[in-house]
Amino acid sequence: MNSIYMDNNATTSLKKEVLDAMLPYLTDIYGNASSKFYKVGRDAEQALYKMRESVAKNIGAANVNEVYFTGSGCEADNWAIKGIAFANKNKGNHIITTKIEHHAILGTCEYLEKHGFEVTYLDVDEYGFVTPEAVEAAVTDNTILISVMTANNEIGTIEPIKEIAQIAKKHKIIFHTDAVQAIGHMKIDVQEMGVDMMSLSAHKFHGPKGVGMLYIKNGIRIDNLIHGGGQERGKRAATENLAGIAGLCKALEIAVSNLDANVAHMKKMRDRLIKGIKKSIPYCRLNGPEDEGRLCNNVNFSFQYVEGESILMMLDMKGIAASSGSACASGSLDPSHVLLAIGLPHEIAHGSLRLSVGEDTTEEEVDYLIEVLPPIIQRLREMSPLYEGVEKGDK
Ligand SMILES: *Cc1c(COP(=O)(O)O)cnc(C)c1O
Repeated sequence: MNSIYMDNNATTSLKKEVLDAMLPYLTDIYGNASSKFYKVGRDAEQALYKMRESVAKNIGAANVNEVYFTGSGCEADNWAIKGIAFANKNKGNHIITTKIEHHAILGTCEYLEKHGFEVTYLDVDEYGFVTPEAVEAAVTDNTILISVMTANNEIGTIEPIKEIAQIAKKHKIIFHTDAVQAIGHMKIDVQEMGVDMMSLSAHKFHGPKGVGMLYIKNGIRIDNLIHGGGQERGKRAATENLAGIAGLCKALEIAVSNLDANVAHMKKMRDRLIKGIKKSIPYCRLNGPEDEGRLCNNVNFSFQYVEGESILMMLDMKGIAASSGSACASGSLDPSHVLLAIGLPHEIAHGSLRLSVGEDTTEEEVDYLIEVLPPIIQRLREMSPLYEGVEKGDK
């Protein structure tokens, strides 16, 4: 087991209180929420209603029935994009998104391109920001959907969602945001943000894996992704994962009620890491915004002349869990699409390290990392033929 966990953008630990909130639905309250003719079924149904009400309140939704539970963040993203595309294809076939979205959005858009839709993938600046002007410039008469993430999972950039939502509204285009990384790290209020749809995933804010949510504002027409029964008001078939939903609901309650204190703590840990690394390691580059506009828990550095995978292996030997690029991407050798989009050359994108702190990260852990990382980078550089030249002053 890793004693120091710095990969909270990949997943988070399940909180004890969250597990406690889930257990009754794995034991006593095992009824199917659609079975209304007996008590254990009605108990499940009533519990589900209460959870939906709590989630609606905690994301600022105007209505309880705007909350749709899903099987993951990826499912919520897939549903939002495909569901809107297919329900509105008589109006147009154009979708606007960005080059730095999560693969759940990008993969879905690529799939739709094979089915007659056109997608504009907007560029971002060197910090990962999308400009509202670029969004507006991409709008055509055929645009039916805009999807821009609230905050990026690799480099932590927080996008100008409110401004983009206003542009979507002005052109009467549906606006979706993937807020999976934002929950627990910044204030989320769907009405204040002005979004029509929003995706969440429980395991990114100390809830269980395999449960997510899609907020769909009343009045939005969307096709089903999963067909079958009448669950989720006929929009998403499958017997409800009540234990998972209970976990999502509890985790969200805790995240929202402790938001300010958690954000302040994570920011402190983040900035200590950034400062410590910059001070002790030469030839490094912070990816993403310096401070303003950066997620409170994300740190992402590129180290010239080293491979990200090698850093991860050596950190693991020191008991530290971290990531290079995104969790999904670290299984492959392709450089991260996000790092390429902010303009990094391949070889520098390859040497990237993402450290994402959590509310439980301590100063001691941060200081330990700052102590062990410089010798790791130095050792790896000494093995690199490119660095040899730099050391000797060839370059
Ligand atoms: C993790 C993540 C997802 C996917 O959520 P899952 O529940 O793991 O499917 C989607 N978008 C972003 C930005 C994420 O970080």
